Amino acid sequence: ILSGRTALVTGSTSGIGLGIAKLLAEAGAKVMLNGFGKPEEIARARQEVGAAMGAAEAPYSGADLSKPEQVRQMIQETQAALGSLDILVNNAGIQFVAPIEEFPDDKFDAIMAINFASNFHAIKAALPGMKARNWGRIINIASAHGLIASPFKVAYVSAKHAVVGMTKTVAVETAQTAITCNAICPGFVRTPLAEAQVKTLAKEHNVSEEAALKDLLLVHQPSKRWIEVEEVAQMALYLCGPNSGGVTGAALSIDGGWYAS
Ligand code: NAD
Repeated sequence: ILSGRTALVTGSTSGIGLGIAKLLAEAGAKVMLNGFGKPEEIARARQEVGAAMGAAEAPYSGADLSKPEQVRQMIQETQAALGSLDILVNNAGIQFVAPIEEFPDDKFDAIMAINFASNFHAIKAALPGMKARNWGRIINIASAHGLIASPFKVAYVSAKHAVVGMTKTVAVETAQTAITCNAICPGFVRTPLAEAQVKTLAKEHNVSEEAALKDLLLVHQPSKRWIEVEEVAQMALYLCGPNSGGVTGAALSIDGGWYAS
């Protein structure tokens, strides 16, 4: 369903971004990757997504999204490598956890820059091309924390709420075009980093990993099960597909009932 479309997925060297990049490529899109990682991890991601595209490897930008100039360059590189940029998935993100009084200023600034401001710079640079081609899909990977708060995550929760606000603004500015802008708000998604947190919690609290998952990590996620990367990727694919043109400005929860509760 995406044949002839071009896409950039930020933070696609691992986790959710890699899952989205693979699924968009399997659906026929040409996909540009971005993100940090060990050289062999980046090479593996390029090969995996490349294979789905029928190429030796997918194109890749090593842009540091905390730097607005590099974000703009990444958009230009994508347009040069793929001929256009039809689908922009703002996914890259980092986390840091501390009480407000102890929250380091540099961590706060980095989270606002990567998780929030980079979305603005990327959207601003990508929109003129989408308007010229009169088609576009912008998907911002926010979080359940774009809609509700948890303690000790002041920067992350603020940045993700801001992403939801920006999503709505972009949507109303583009509402009369064939461009849509939506946010996806996942609860806890099974990724290597998140699974490592379960092991740490189990040790700290001297409980089984199953109990640590259900009673500690997923304490607010009523389903008591992980959201899978594939499920988030399928939601992104739906937003890029032929039947989602009327969905814009939405913050779509995929959180096992967390926001509802
Ligand atoms: P991850 O750590 O596996 O992936 C993050 C990606 O961002 C990596 O590719 C990393 O290299 C990249 N990145 C980090 N800093 C960067 C920078 N300065 N410049 C360029 N790339 C950078 O994490 P994930 O769990 O897959 O998270 C992806 C997104 O989903 C994030 O925005 C996160 O906040 C959001 N999210 C995750 C969960 C979850 O439970 N895993 C839940 C809700 C929302």
